[in-house]
Amino acid sequence: MDLSVDDKAFAAEVRGFIAEHLTPEIRRAQALTPSVFSDPEIIAPWQKALHAKGWVAPGWPRDHGGTGWTPIQRWIFETECARAGVPSVSPMGVKMVGPLIIGFGTAEQKAFYLPRILSGADYWCQGYSEPGSGSDLASLKTRAVRDGDHYVINGTKIWTTHAHHANRMFALVRTETGARPQDGISFILIDMKSPGISIRPILTIGGDHEVNQVFFDDVRVPVADRVGEEGKGWTYGKYLLEFERGSGIASAKLRQGLDAVLALARSAATGHAIEDPDIALGAAEIEVDIDALEMTELRLLSAMQTGQNPGAVSSLLKLRVSEIRQAVTRLGVEVIGLDALAVEPMRPLYAINQAPAIPEAALPIVPEHLNGRAYTIFGGTSEIQRDIIAKLMLGL
Ligand SMILES: Cc1cc2nc3c(=O)[nH]c(=O)nc-3n(C[C@H](O)[C@H](O)[C@H](O)COP(=O)(O)OP(=O)(O)OC[C@H]3O[C@@H](n4cnc5c(N)ncnc54)[C@H](O)[C@@H]3O)c2cc1C
Repeated sequence: MDLSVDDKAFAAEVRGFIAEHLTPEIRRAQALTPSVFSDPEIIAPWQKALHAKGWVAPGWPRDHGGTGWTPIQRWIFETECARAGVPSVSPMGVKMVGPLIIGFGTAEQKAFYLPRILSGADYWCQGYSEPGSGSDLASLKTRAVRDGDHYVINGTKIWTTHAHHANRMFALVRTETGARPQDGISFILIDMKSPGISIRPILTIGGDHEVNQVFFDDVRVPVADRVGEEGKGWTYGKYLLEFERGSGIASAKLRQGLDAVLALARSAATGHAIEDPDIALGAAEIEVDIDALEMTELRLLSAMQTGQNPGAVSSLLKLRVSEIRQAVTRLGVEVIGLDALAVEPMRPLYAINQAPAIPEAALPIVPEHLNGRAYTIFGGTSEIQRDIIAKLMLGL
């Protein structure tokens, strides 16, 4: 693809912005982050710079603080950011609850929440899954009982990413028991400082603290913090999941991850592992997969630019992105070879010493490989995505 003169100028502007605001400290901390989301302290200074420039929310309409960029500009921005290794702003606010509030929130909710998402004043977590209600999300049991102009919430949410950092949660709760499990679910916004909320950390195979179980014990939430109609939360929740699964541009980041693995494979530190035909073939296959993914992402971006929401193609993207991500780190582990066994599971990597044989840039590969088992689980498992693709795209 050839970029137009305007697009080339835009790419240069993005590169200039990155050069000015991406400090070596942020870049290094991000490079050594092997988990799905970066910690808020890594993101905060970068988000502040983006906010000052009006660039936090490329996907939002301009009148709500979005950029008004064309699909190709969004692609350029994401690609330049991935190349430079900038941290991603947490998607829970900008990519998930933000579009939902824009689509279905009241004027008051938009005026209060949207600017706080953009500035980073609010950090959100997603309260969907419960013990026993993951793939079968509609079976969720956390109850919200009306008491005057409040709901009183009792129950528990699990696998809640960054609940320990968040000051707000968007959640699906049961406001009545309907004929179908999908009926009687409502979508509410919860202040995580509310009395009655407690958070228990869950440590994962990667050794990190990213997810939690959250308990609600008579937590009072104003009815004004329900988004949309009572009992219609399932519709809103599904709309949001489409944005979670398929509104990003992952190919640029995947390519950057593959490039890092290839640089390592060409280095003496790995005994020039690239000369192993299995490694070379594996890398070539991943590269072709990333090229194909990139084209699909561009098609989706054009569709979204004309006002459509992602629809079932988001499931296809989620499936492919998660599989390719795992393939990249698996190749990385193969390139490192037996030395991979010496890398400890993740702790704040930027603060510890690791296996000396491995160059610093390669340190996150093993923890990311372990942490990345979750890619094919969160946001809906691969089996569930295949079900959706079969039903909605293939008509099976
Ligand atoms: C790291 C991580 C972060 C997460 N973050 C969040 C978060 O922030 N907020 C949140 O709400 N949730 C979060 N989740 C939860 C995630 O969405 C669920 O784990 C996921 O939806 C699967 O649900 P489950 O764990 O209950 O597994 P189950 O639904 O019990 O599935 C178990 C297995 O059965 C298979 N299976 C289930 N049903 C079917 C079916 N109908 N057809 C074929 N196979 C099926 C699944 O594919 C899976 O292999 C996170 C999970 C992880 C691992």
